[in-house]
Amino acid sequence: MVFRKYYALIVVVVIFGALLFSFNIQRYFAPLSSFEDPLQQDNDYFSIGKYPFGYNGACMVTVDDVSFWTLTEELQSLREITRLHGVHATYFVIPAHGGAAYPISNNMEVVELLLKCMGEGDEVALHGYTHSPTTELKGKSRADQEEIIRKGLAELTNIFGPVYGFRPPAFWKNTATYSVLEELEFLYCASACVFNVNPYHPFDTFSPFFGEEINLIEIPCFPTDYLANITSENSSEQLFKLKTRFDGCYEKGAPFVFFSHLETLLYIDKSSGRYEGLSALDNFLSYTHSLNMWMPTMLEYAKWQIFLEDIKISYNISSNKINISMMSDDVIDGITIYMNLPDDINDVTISFNNVVCYKCDTCSKNEIIIL
Ligand SMILES: [Zn+2]
Repeated sequence: MVFRKYYALIVVVVIFGALLFSFNIQRYFAPLSSFEDPLQQDNDYFSIGKYPFGYNGACMVTVDDVSFWTLTEELQSLREITRLHGVHATYFVIPAHGGAAYPISNNMEVVELLLKCMGEGDEVALHGYTHSPTTELKGKSRADQEEIIRKGLAELTNIFGPVYGFRPPAFWKNTATYSVLEELEFLYCASACVFNVNPYHPFDTFSPFFGEEINLIEIPCFPTDYLANITSENSSEQLFKLKTRFDGCYEKGAPFVFFSHLETLLYIDKSSGRYEGLSALDNFLSYTHSLNMWMPTMLEYAKWQIFLEDIKISYNISSNKINISMMSDDVIDGITIYMNLPDDINDVTISFNNVVCYKCDTCSKNEIIIL
């Protein structure tokens, strides 16, 4: 009798495990390390800001499914809103939406508008190749995934120049996807995560918790299009949900990734005759702007995080002086240092790669220094 119970338990565990595996539930999990703040660099005397130029946080606006089928007027309406709020948007572009017969290069109006957006600071990143079926990479071997991603990358690179970011169609990815992205020198993946909000380095074994780190940053969003099915009746509720999710990330000190589709944003509500999605985005961006958010592209964010992860910072103190030394292969402006000086220290010298870049002998206790 007892043995039968055990058998039943084993069968249940095996079935449950197989289900989790087949749904690729792993795509929504993150390694344990990602629950820590990777940029925590505090000490007794100063801390390094997580964001450049003294910004309080970061909010990235990402829009999916830009393709051959995109209408320029729609993209243009979105562009006007992002410019208004100083946002550098990231457009996830499908190189051949629906099949190789529909390459984005056959819609030069959209291509030209995207190039113009890039000139203003926006980013074009890759979103599969055909996005068809919706979960394009699902069930594919590593070799097949590589072929798809390579084709997409070649198409976009030909038109827009180097591309560094990838969002898997319908967020479907596995460890093979990460390893392909690493091989093709992508800097980040913009997938989804249910439990974790911090960007992290994924692992290359089948175990999501242990193994070797992949040289790539995953910058996850919550897997929901915040403004899907928005109407004039439910718009304040949708906006409230979006702001609540944003506040949650902001309070944890994590960047927030706004995720939506062009189709959602440009849906015209029949009763009001308005673009409810676009107007909610406008409202949301006024809110984030009022909180002094940095609104970079995903690439700008990824480069910034890599910079902060790699920079070596040391300091020494003698009498009333503190010398801070920073060493880095990259040079990115905006590094922000929040001083927390004891009363007897007021002379601060900062050097970057052994060159003095800041000097002050009347520093206040809580000086904020932006390099
Ligand atoms: Zn998509």
